[in-house]
Amino acid sequence: MEHLKHIEHIGIAVKDLQAAEDIYTRLLGVAPYKREEVASEGVVTSFFRSGPNKIELLESSDPEGPIARAIAKRGEGIHHIAFAVDDIRAEMDRLRTEGFTLLNEEPKRGADNKLVCFVHPKSANGVLVELCQEIDRSA
Ligand code: ZN
Repeated sequence: MEHLKHIEHIGIAVKDLQAAEDIYTRLLGVAPYKREEVASEGVVTSFFRSGPNKIELLESSDPEGPIARAIAKRGEGIHHIAFAVDDIRAEMDRLRTEGFTLLNEEPKRGADNKLVCFVHPKSANGVLVELCQEIDRSA
């Protein structure tokens, strides 16, 4: 069985989503295909496609939220790498067994119709890793 199947997207923390959308539209040569607020996370996200890959821009909508704190600490830049999984609960169990620290006890609803869970960057050489499972729209 494949575990972390492929990179689903790369998340980039930005201060000003509109300004960053303009920059990434010029960089990638394509406009974002969706903007979505995830109120529970205190973020507004914007998604771009680049061939088979996706870029997620994240702006904080909450001055105390995780993106605001990340930018205060490290400035703008790559915030997380997200991997696609088929069964997020099975992967969470596997990673716990492997000794990784997970930031979420249970999968939670993320942007772009996904169930997500984060792996603590201390567990992964300073990289915040996101697992994401597509939510079955037919379910
Ligand atoms: Zn993400």
